[in-house]
Amino acid sequence: MTKPLISIVVPMYNEHDVARECHRRLTQMLDDQRAVFAGELLYVNDGSTDDTLDILKELATADERVRVIGFARNFGHQIAVTAGIHKARGEAVAVIDADLQDPPELIPQMVAKWQEGWHVVYGQREQRAGETWFKLVTAKGFYRILNRLTQVAIPMDTGDFRLMDRQVVEVFKNMPEHNRFLRGMVSWIGFRQTAFLYRREERFAGESKYPLSKMLQLAFDGIISFSHKPVYWIRQAGLLVTGVSKMLLLVWVIAWLTGSAGNLFYTGGQSLLGMLLGMNLLAMGILGEYLVRIYDEVRRRPLYTIQEEWPEAARRPGPRE
Ligand code: UDP
Ligand code: MG
Repeated sequence: MTKPLISIVVPMYNEHDVARECHRRLTQMLDDQRAVFAGELLYVNDGSTDDTLDILKELATADERVRVIGFARNFGHQIAVTAGIHKARGEAVAVIDADLQDPPELIPQMVAKWQEGWHVVYGQREQRAGETWFKLVTAKGFYRILNRLTQVAIPMDTGDFRLMDRQVVEVFKNMPEHNRFLRGMVSWIGFRQTAFLYRREERFAGESKYPLSKMLQLAFDGIISFSHKPVYWIRQAGLLVTGVSKMLLLVWVIAWLTGSAGNLFYTGGQSLLGMLLGMNLLAMGILGEYLVRIYDEVRRRPLYTIQEEWPEAARRPGPRE
């Protein structure tokens, strides 16, 4: 039996402090598993402004298992992972963060599950070391909300640490959407999926590249891309507000007939108007979010631009993309 090839996709953005250690742990794991599977390492440099790309090229020169994809600018984590998956040649593709929060040593266990016949093995966090209570609470809350809103069941407390079978990868490659929420997309694809419980470690070094603003944006993308409910909320709010307004009108007419309508109703009307205006803007904003996404899609721009690849395409062994 020939050994399967497992591609490992690692997005890197300003990971000067981490890149070498990440490579060391990954290659150590691959060396230990030599008898079971072969590995290819796809490092995606997401427009780092430090010397991450130089480090990656150096690693690629020293180790032929390494391929480097260099973006022409920063496109964000989800897009970087996407590019890696697009370029992967393995029979299964694993995705892992560079910062070693997801231990590379667990990949063999994922591979074992894949060999048992699972198409997707996704890491599910049972504990998070070294994360603030704020992140814990918001992350938990987010998954609860997301699952109430979306039509596709997206498993709780999962990140992008996962392993996917080639069949799933081929479907994924046919999903050209620009607003990408990978864990949702993979849930949507289906096939046989299973969780893999693990303990998420602390970041090895450096700082999180996901500040609160980016986290919120990802959460928002997840909801808008996987749920139509916000549009229904607008309808419900519209119904509610019209109902309340009608009742108020009735009250006002009665007050007017009995001669007791005074300033009270004037100010009441003012605040009601203000509220309606606010709700209108909110509704337009929500619709706008869907509209902007449609615009993003119809332009059909490529998802990313690659400035360079290492080793260069001509020298790279194996089939061409
Ligand atoms: N990352 C990336 N592009 C970005 C931000 C992050 O490729 O714009 C990578 C980063 O190098 C790391 C992974 O995405 O490998 C996860 O980022 P990070 O650890 O900073 O996020 P957190 O674990 O704090 O959510
Ligand atoms: Mg991290």
